Amino acid sequence: MHAASIVVVGTGYVGLTTGACLACLGHRVTCVDVDAAKVARLAAGRVDIMEPGLAGLVARGLTGGTLSFTVEARAAVESADAVFLCVPTPMGAGGAADLRAVESAVATMANSLPSDSVLVTKSTVPVGTARRIGDLLGRDDVAVVSNPEFLREGTAVADFLGPQRIVVGSDTPGAAERVAALYRLLEAPVVVTDAASAELVKYAANCFLATKLSYVNSIAELCERLGADIDAVTRGMGYDSRIGRSFLSPGPGWGGSCLPKDTSALLRIADAVGFDFRLLSAAVEDNLAQRDRVVAKVANAVGGELAGARIGLLGLAFKAGTDDLRDSPALSVASVLSAHGARLCAYDPAVTGPLPGMAVTDDPYRVARGADALVVLTEWPEFTQLDWTYVADLMRGTAVVDTRNLLSPASLRDAGLRWTGLGRSTNR
Ligand code: NAD
Repeated sequence: MHAASIVVVGTGYVGLTTGACLACLGHRVTCVDVDAAKVARLAAGRVDIMEPGLAGLVARGLTGGTLSFTVEARAAVESADAVFLCVPTPMGAGGAADLRAVESAVATMANSLPSDSVLVTKSTVPVGTARRIGDLLGRDDVAVVSNPEFLREGTAVADFLGPQRIVVGSDTPGAAERVAALYRLLEAPVVVTDAASAELVKYAANCFLATKLSYVNSIAELCERLGADIDAVTRGMGYDSRIGRSFLSPGPGWGGSCLPKDTSALLRIADAVGFDFRLLSAAVEDNLAQRDRVVAKVANAVGGELAGARIGLLGLAFKAGTDDLRDSPALSVASVLSAHGARLCAYDPAVTGPLPGMAVTDDPYRVARGADALVVLTEWPEFTQLDWTYVADLMRGTAVVDTRNLLSPASLRDAGLRWTGLGRSTNR
């Protein structure tokens, strides 16, 4: 397929990025969403999510006539060469992936897809979903291809246009290659495989990353008990190319829109075939324990009693560079602090309130005013630039719990504050 006619279903982080980027690669793209208000905003060039470069690509596609938005899925797919499903697959009852949006989209389009078109799942879906979609479609003339997406929020456009690999899998001969051809302008290794393997790649990758983070959080805990320094330990580990430097920073627990639901889904997938995936279960359990360790550190920082303590939170998003709050560990820590009676005031450069259980302000210094402790929960670089002497003046207490090891302990000490991080001695 050279310039193909493409429909993207779902205009969230993945769908909008996919649509705008495929249009910029020369395809004619129609994006479909069930959210009519969102479709109207996008058709007017308004992008709600924080993704560098995305609004520009959307504007370019709209102006050039290569990108359009609609709520009419059936009409949109009638002339499509390929339809990309980018709808949500959240954690459902019992922890498995909830496939209702996928199934509803397929049911809507089934009779309108042209012969020889390809239905592509970009959503993260359990192994066996391609086959299930094939059954739902009930058509031999439409191939189903799994093409999992690996983009990261905050760098979605750059990741889509510069992927480390493209994975395409299908049980229909030639179909995966047809989807791979849509990306021919991108320089990336292409893994062509069967549908089940492609579906599993995504879970295997995300669950590996989650496990790596749980591992490093455990090493940080060990560092504290042994008097070692996690920064030195992870630097020493990261130079080993077999390990790599990424995903080696301790934190308040992993979260976000993907890792919690994908670890849970893979555990259910393994369970369904009688495999007790103990390593992954332990990674998930340790992640909950990490949140509790952070809460204990905060309690300790305010003298042991959280009830009535005024805690300022710096950062709410699950990582810097995004406004996404889904399954953010910061919110998870906040809800436990709040349940213990702490009074919370939060600031995040990308988030506006209201949020339950806390006041949200647009001024980082307001969270410091009268606070017994500050807790850094997201690694926004701008927190390092705060006037910490002024912060110290505003606070009632002196404790700063830095769950990202973001701040300079020496600078905070100079400002008269007590810094506590993860996996590091506070005296260094
Ligand atoms: P999202 O919540 O940001 O967006 C989903 C969009 O789909 C919304 O606009 C929603 O209105 C729309 N939608 C829901 N049901 C629909 C339907 N039946 N028909 C048409 N539109 C519908 O979701 P997302 O973060 O883009 O994730 C989408 C999928 O991609 C998920 O399976 C996710 O696991 C996967 N994924 C996400 C990321 C990420 O970083 N967000 C990365 C890789 C893969």
